[in-house]
Amino acid sequence: MIFYSTKTASLKASLEEAVFRSLPPDNGLYMPESIPKVSQEFLDTIENKSFKEIAVEITNTLLGDDISKEDIEKLIHSSYDFDAPILKITPDDYVLELFHGPSMAFKDFGARFMAALMSHFLVKSKKEIQILVATSGDTGGAVAQGFFKVPGISVTILYPSGKVSDIQEKQLTTLGHNITALEVDGTFDDCQKLVKEAFLDPELTEKFNLASANSINIARLIPQSFYFFAAYAQLKKLGKPIVFSVPSGNFGNLSAGLLAYRMGLPVERFIASTNLNNSVPRYLKEGSFEAHASIETISNAMDVGNPSNFVRLVRFFGDDWNLVKEKVSGYFFNDEETQESMREVFSNSHYLLCPHTAIAYRGLEEYRKNSDGNFTGVFLSTAHPAKFIDLVEETLGKPVEIPERLRLLLSIEKKSIKLNPVYSDFKSLLFSKLGQ
Ligand SMILES: *Cc1c(COP(=O)(O)O)cnc(C)c1O
Repeated sequence: MIFYSTKTASLKASLEEAVFRSLPPDNGLYMPESIPKVSQEFLDTIENKSFKEIAVEITNTLLGDDISKEDIEKLIHSSYDFDAPILKITPDDYVLELFHGPSMAFKDFGARFMAALMSHFLVKSKKEIQILVATSGDTGGAVAQGFFKVPGISVTILYPSGKVSDIQEKQLTTLGHNITALEVDGTFDDCQKLVKEAFLDPELTEKFNLASANSINIARLIPQSFYFFAAYAQLKKLGKPIVFSVPSGNFGNLSAGLLAYRMGLPVERFIASTNLNNSVPRYLKEGSFEAHASIETISNAMDVGNPSNFVRLVRFFGDDWNLVKEKVSGYFFNDEETQESMREVFSNSHYLLCPHTAIAYRGLEEYRKNSDGNFTGVFLSTAHPAKFIDLVEETLGKPVEIPERLRLLLSIEKKSIKLNPVYSDFKSLLFSKLGQ
C-alpha cells in the first residue's frame, strides 16, 4: 500500500516509512492512495468468521503487497488475545464492547497492532528504536501494554503528575522492563511540548532512532477498522441497515469506521457523538470547521478542541461537505446529559456505561428520534466503566465492583522518574537512559 500526505498529494511513503515516521515531513497526515475493496464472498460468509479471521482478511486486503500472508497471520494472532463482543441493550440497540484488552480501553486494538507491525519491520532491519509518547491518560496505558517486552523497542512515556486517574497511572508505571514512565510536574501540553522538541533536536535524532506512537499513526488507524466488520458479522442476520455511533475526540475511531465503509462494509450511517468539544458536529451542521481550545469534561479522553483526524474524515469524501453529511451525523452533549444517560441505561438495562460510552449511546438515541428508526443501532463502548470508578459511583449513587485485574494493579507499587517540564533536563535524562 502506498500512502500520500493530505497536504501534498505528490509526497508518497511506503508502509514502513509511514509507520516509523508517523507524520509526513510537511505535517499532513498519511492516507492510503487507493482503498481496495473486500470481496463479495468475504461479506457473504463473514458471519461464520472469528474476530481474528476477519482481522487477517482485512489486513491482507490492505497490506498484502507489503507483508506475507503468513506474517500477517502471526501478527494478528500475537496482537489479539481479546475480542470485541456485541451485547443487546434495548430492542434495537447494541453495544460493541471494545474494552477487553490489557488496558481496558479501545486504544489497545491500535497499540497492539502498531507494536507488532513495528517489530515485524525491526526484526528484518535489525534496528533498535526508542518510542517517545506523551499521554493525557488512556494512550499511555495502551502503548505501554502494547509494546511491553517487544524486542528492539524501548518506550518512554511522559504523563502529567496528578492529572491522570489512579488506574491510568498504575497502567503506565508498574510494567518496568522496556517501559519507562516520566512523571512530569506540569500539564499534558507540557509533556507534548517536550516530546515535540525532542523530535526536532538533531543531537538526539542523529544518535537514536526516535519514533512516535501517537494516535494519527496509520498503524493505529488500520486495526480499528476490524471491529466495525466484526460488529457487522454479528448483526447481519437481523437483516436491517446498521448505524454506528462513535464517541469521538481525535476522530481516529470514526475515521477507521469510514475506512471500513470505503472497503465495502455496508453501513447506513455513522454518528459522530461528542462532548462539548463539538467542532465536528458543528461542522456537520454548519459546513465550516472551527477549532477551539479544549474544554474540560467528565468524558476527558474526548476533550479535544482541534481533532487531528478531521482532515482524514473529510478526505474520505473528497473534502465535500455535502457528501460527508449524507453519511455522518453529529450530536454533542454536556456533562449532565452524559450522567443522565449513564443512570438511564443502568436503571433500564442494568448495564454500566463509562462517560464516553454514554455519549455514544445518547447520540444513537438522538438520531433514532430524528429518523424513521428502522435500523440496528450499535454504540461503541470505548472504555470499561471501572476505569472511571469514582465518577461512575458518584453518578449512580452506589458502589460499583472493580474487576480483579484492576484491583490487583492498584496494589502494585508505581515506579516513575520525576521530571520538571524543562527541555534540557529531559534531554540529559534521555541521554543517560538511552546512551548506555
Ligand atoms: C481516546 C478515547 C476516545 C476518543 O477516540 P478518538 O479516536 O480520539 O476519537 C473515546 N473514548 C475513550 C475511552 C478514549 O480513550
